[in-house]
Amino acid sequence: MVAGDEGVVIRGGAVEQVARVLREKGVGSLNTLDLFDTRFYPPRSAGREDVLRYFLVMVALDHRLSRPGRRYEACLPDGCYHGADLLYRLGAKTFLEDPGFYSPARLASLTIDGFRSRFEIDGASIPDPEIRVMLLRDIGFKLEKLYDGRVGVVLERSGGWIRRWPGPGLLDLLRVFRAYEDPVEKKSFLFIKFIVGRGLYQPRDPENIDVPVDNHLVRIALRLGIIEPVGETRRLIEEWVEVDRETDTAIRLAARRAYRLLARESGVPPTLLDDHLWIHGRTICIRDGEPRCGDCMFRMVCRANAAKQYIREHRHYNTWYY
Ligand code: SF4
Repeated sequence: MVAGDEGVVIRGGAVEQVARVLREKGVGSLNTLDLFDTRFYPPRSAGREDVLRYFLVMVALDHRLSRPGRRYEACLPDGCYHGADLLYRLGAKTFLEDPGFYSPARLASLTIDGFRSRFEIDGASIPDPEIRVMLLRDIGFKLEKLYDGRVGVVLERSGGWIRRWPGPGLLDLLRVFRAYEDPVEKKSFLFIKFIVGRGLYQPRDPENIDVPVDNHLVRIALRLGIIEPVGETRRLIEEWVEVDRETDTAIRLAARRAYRLLARESGVPPTLLDDHLWIHGRTICIRDGEPRCGDCMFRMVCRANAAKQYIREHRHYNTWYY
């Protein structure tokens, strides 16, 4: 075992077993997102700055969309969507119908009604609209004041570095936005995944890319056994008690480090690993109800499957970070 953050250990042996599965299956067997799917993202022909603004805004909004007993889902003429799919579907629709929505000036003066008119539909209401509007106004205001109103300037000032000493690297520059201030840098790495995947940013230090640790990735890490909560942290998770920010951060940082080891040992880039695990968490290793272990590539090495005990991720709703 490798010592992790307080209350959580990283299990190096489990990481090696999962890495072996990934090596044997090969990168080609993994599920990946199509970042040019116009249902969810801007078209290939869209301008660079417009696309950067789109992703900066959408990732800022991308946290906790459904709550117990209240799912964020709706049917549009082209299909039914829920959670992040619905958010990005409505975001892409807005991009086509009203691209000025993503301009810093409009964001800085966004109202709750203006936000709701774009991201609530057909009975699907988004939780915490006041917080999400605050985050977008903050982005609009700071883009104007600090970065000449352009996300491209944020990237230029990073010099192509994700992390750089003494800075600033891209993570430092993003951290000034309230939506991107979280200590685990989940939203920052999701934004980086999108802009690297769209060919809008080529980091000089790709070895510093980590997975964005959302709730699916925490749950899968716990079930696979690549991280193991101990003591009080374990009790809080098993009893699904709301944890405080410190405990949440410790769990996610341990998961991030375990996935970093997994990416290195398997040879699968963190961006692809995240695509695959995110889809896996929504379709196979689901939170509610029995996971579909029979369809899972990791079933032979999964600790939860061996014990037939499927731990959920920890409970932490009071945040806009994940
Ligand atoms: S075997 Fe089952 S519990 Fe384990 S990762 Fe796969 S779906 Fe999840």
